[in-house]
Amino acid sequence: MPELPEVETVRRGLDRGVAGRTVRDVTVTHPRAVRRHEAGPADFAARLAGRTVTAVRRRGKYLWLPLDSGEALTGHLGMSGQLLVVPADAPVQKHLHVRLRFADGGRELRFVDQRTFGGLLVVPDGDPVPPLLAHIARDPIDPDFDDEAFVAGLRRRHTGVKRALLDQTLVSGIGNIYADETLWRAGLHGERPTDVLTRPAARRLLGHARDVLAEAITAGGTSFDALYVSAEGVSGLFEHSLDAYGQEGLPCRRCGTPIRRESFMNRSSASCPRCQPRPRAARR
Ligand SMILES: [Zn+2]
Repeated sequence: MPELPEVETVRRGLDRGVAGRTVRDVTVTHPRAVRRHEAGPADFAARLAGRTVTAVRRRGKYLWLPLDSGEALTGHLGMSGQLLVVPADAPVQKHLHVRLRFADGGRELRFVDQRTFGGLLVVPDGDPVPPLLAHIARDPIDPDFDDEAFVAGLRRRHTGVKRALLDQTLVSGIGNIYADETLWRAGLHGERPTDVLTRPAARRLLGHARDVLAEAITAGGTSFDALYVSAEGVSGLFEHSLDAYGQEGLPCRRCGTPIRRESFMNRSSASCPRCQPRPRAARR
């Protein structure tokens, strides 16, 4: 699942590729890709045709493209969805589901999705934030992110610190990869209770999250399963910088102890047993 750095990389590519351009027509070749647009594929296409994309915005892991109609094109990339900006004569991709052509005859926007978990829809009130996405918290690289509200909100929760980092209503954009990386840098086990973290520890945690996300954006994101690519089809390079996620059995880059893997909410967590000891109450 793409997290903030991957979605931001896609956002930047879309901003370069489609912002300011007017849609000529839309072809939906796989109706499942617009299943969240309840009025159906024909309505989806009609709401886009003739409209100009005024901007490309993101909050957390969510992207939307405000239109000059006041609506916005939005969607979920799911596990494998790709939004690609490609030359109009580029060969049709095997899993091409939605195709937007532009009035200028230039590059097209294509939604390609191997597993069809993702999808697109047009929503009302697209600027500045569609109501559909209003419950998503700001992310740590948003200039309007409120650090002290995050610290207070984190310490008020009675949960483990990893669950809190994944809670998109507290802080958005962080998923399994960047939560594990943030916790490794902070030297905290994911089950450390949030309500006993000191304020300075909570601020340091936020600082590590911000650093990891910024470095990953610079690297163009993490293409761990090779499905995530930028709007120009380029893979991210941050997987070479991962310290915990996907590093099970490899030596911790800080202390040399093999990275462990533990089950966590139907998935797993990777951490260093020495740098990130389990809290006493949660020890098995
Ligand atoms: Zn270590």
